[in-house]
Formats: sequence, structure tokens, C-alpha cells
Amino acid sequence: MKIVKYYNEISLVMNTTIASGKYSLETTLIHGGNQIDERTGAVNVPIYQTSTFRQDGLGKNRGFEYSRTGNPTRKVLEDLIAELEGGVAGFAFASGMAAITTVLSLYKSGDRILISRNVYGGTFRVLDKVFKNFGINYTILESEDPDDLRKAITPDVKALLLESPANPLMSITDIRAFSAVAHELGVKVIVDNTFMTPYLQRPIELGADIVVHSGTKYLGGHSDLVAGLAVVNDQETAERLAFLQNATGGVLQPFDSFLLIRGIKTLSVRMDRHVENAVKVAKHLASSDDVSKIFYPGLKSDPGFEINSKQAKNGGAMLSFELKEGHDLNRFFESLELISLAESLGGVESLACHPSTMTHASIPEEIRKAVGITDGLIRLSIGIEDADDIIRDLDNAIKESRL
Ligand code: PLP
Repeated sequence: MKIVKYYNEISLVMNTTIASGKYSLETTLIHGGNQIDERTGAVNVPIYQTSTFRQDGLGKNRGFEYSRTGNPTRKVLEDLIAELEGGVAGFAFASGMAAITTVLSLYKSGDRILISRNVYGGTFRVLDKVFKNFGINYTILESEDPDDLRKAITPDVKALLLESPANPLMSITDIRAFSAVAHELGVKVIVDNTFMTPYLQRPIELGADIVVHSGTKYLGGHSDLVAGLAVVNDQETAERLAFLQNATGGVLQPFDSFLLIRGIKTLSVRMDRHVENAVKVAKHLASSDDVSKIFYPGLKSDPGFEINSKQAKNGGAMLSFELKEGHDLNRFFESLELISLAESLGGVESLACHPSTMTHASIPEEIRKAVGITDGLIRLSIGIEDADDIIRDLDNAIKESRL
């Protein structure tokens, strides 16, 4: 695989063995991006906590000039995520929203972005409240049917932005089929792969052009940083995004780049445990008399199971459910002891959230209702604790919430 280099020919030579695909993804998580420091041999990436770099003469630098433009620690992370997603270049940002905002800045007034229903509330908000003011419009795609996508692609549509599974109903989009239709009509495909990570799903292999991540979630994995990543699959977009990253400046800091590299090293073992626990919790909730609905693409009964199985390793570790009538939601959340009521997801600890007042509150009520995000919906990010402890905590909160 070819990694595009913009400013860094000298100090960080790519580890060509890994870049050539000799090693598996699990190994690349730990060694990708050339993590050995060429200068000292340090096996962990040094935190180059510097804003600027001494130049040897006019126009002569050693690969870096100024840390907004490029920083050696961030560069390792950027090469690492490019390798993991199978793209030509990676970019690290101060948050997932900074990554998404910079990617959307590739478009111009008069362009239209199609978004799958149930995209993250912040993605909807930035399109609705920021980009619309600059003449970049959006349309919400109300279905996961590729024929409906074809109908929705008007001449002004330049990109399709989707999540699969889409938050919080875990609805599945056929990334391969959607990419084929989009490409046929000249539309770029952007996939937010936050919920799956490249360990479970690799959108570029399925046809996507750009992958974005909230690195805050599974990639970081420990709820201790906010970060965003983008990976592109063609050199022209790579150059445009490198320009935008430097021009708009929402870059990830060296220390946070280091934390994210460190988090990514354990991604495969964490994800395996997250998913094992999620399957146990989902099966338990599905068999509960108190639960009316469960949304988890890892269950055979889920409408997205089949397509998800064709494009992802498994159903991931995010699930949502609704309690039957006769339960007090407030009491449910207040009775959770082990599981924290909190925004975010993907950390080692289990979290619960109420999408309609938390993650998806920025989506107007009528749109929320139309896409099926009810006020009774509870979303769980299943952590890597003992699954029996998670289940006991949920059972107790459900019992306490009965009216
Ligand atoms: N994409 C998805 C799917 C998310 O869940 C989130 C945050 O929850 C974001 C993007 C935004 O990421 P960040 O909070 O790191 O800005």
C-alpha cells in the first residue's frame, strides 16, 4: 500500500514490511505507522511536544516546519490509521466533529450532501446550522434501499455520508451496494466508521472514498481523550484535505496523538471482549419480559443482521432497547450502579444514554420521531467488565424502574 507523504520524507521512514501488507490487521494495530523512533530506537512513539522546528536554511527543513502543518507524533498516527483503513493518507483532528467538518469543507456552495437517517446528532447539527449557511445543503435519506438512494441523487448531490450501524437504532446500510450506486452517479461516499473501527469493518474495501472516525470512542478506548480521524483513498482528495487541515487548523495535539496510538494498540483484544459481552447482554435483553424492542445487528432476528454479516466481522458492541410500558425511565437510569449514565461510547467501561435528550437532542423532535428515535429508547455502550455484572446491573435497574 502506498502512503502519501507531504512533509516528512526524512525523519520517519515508512516501515515497508507492514505497509506492504505482510502482517495482519491485529499486528498492524501494534506496529503500523512505523512506531519505532528512527533517532533513538524508542519502541514507543515519542511525544514531539513542540510547536515549531528549527530549519537548516531558507527552504531547508527536516520534514517538519510547524506543528499545525505536521507533527512527527501525529504523523505516525495518521500513517497508522491510513494503513488500518486501507487508504492512501490519514489525518488526525482535535475531535471527530473537527474531522467531519474538515471533510465537509471539501464541498462548496450549491453542493448537496446526502446523509443516512440516524447519523450522529452533531453531524446533522453541523450540516443544518453551519454548512447550510454557506450554501452547502443536505438531504436525509429515509431508507436503506439502494433504489431510494438512486432516486435521491439529484445533480447537485456530491457526497453521501453514512454510518453503518447508524446511531442509535443500529440500522445497517449496505455499504457495497450504496457505494456502487453513488459511484455510478459520480457521488463520493463518506463512511463514519466510529461504531465499528477498522478491526470490525473496512469501508474503503467495500467501496467508500473517505472514512471518518471519532477517535474519542473505541480507537482511544479509555474515555480519556477527544480526537478525530479521516482517511482518504485517492491522492487528489488527500492533497485537498492536507491543505484544509492546515488551513483550518483543527489538528490533534502531540500528547493526544500519543494516547490515541496507545489506545489503538489494544483495539483487537478490547473489541473482542466488547462484542462478546454485547452479544450476551443483547440475548439477555431480548429474552426479558420487560423489554419491548431491541436493536442490535449482532442478533439473527435483527433486520440488519444479514447485510451486516457480509460487510463487518460482527455486530459490534453498541445496542439500544425500549422498555415496555409501565416503567419509569428516570428511575431506570438512576438505579444503574455499575453502568454510568453518560454521553459517548466505546470506552472500557459500560455507559448508558438516553438518545432523545442526549446524543440526538440536536435533531428536531419531528425528525427524531420520524426516524424512530423514541423518548423511551435507551442506548448502551457495552464495556469490557464481567458480562454477568453488566447484566445484573441492568436487571436491577429494570426491576427498580417498574411502576
Ligand atoms: N461520529 C459518531 C458516530 C459519534 O458517535 C460521534 C460522537 O459521539 C462523533 C462522530 C463526533 O465525535 P467527537 O465527539 O469526537 O467530536
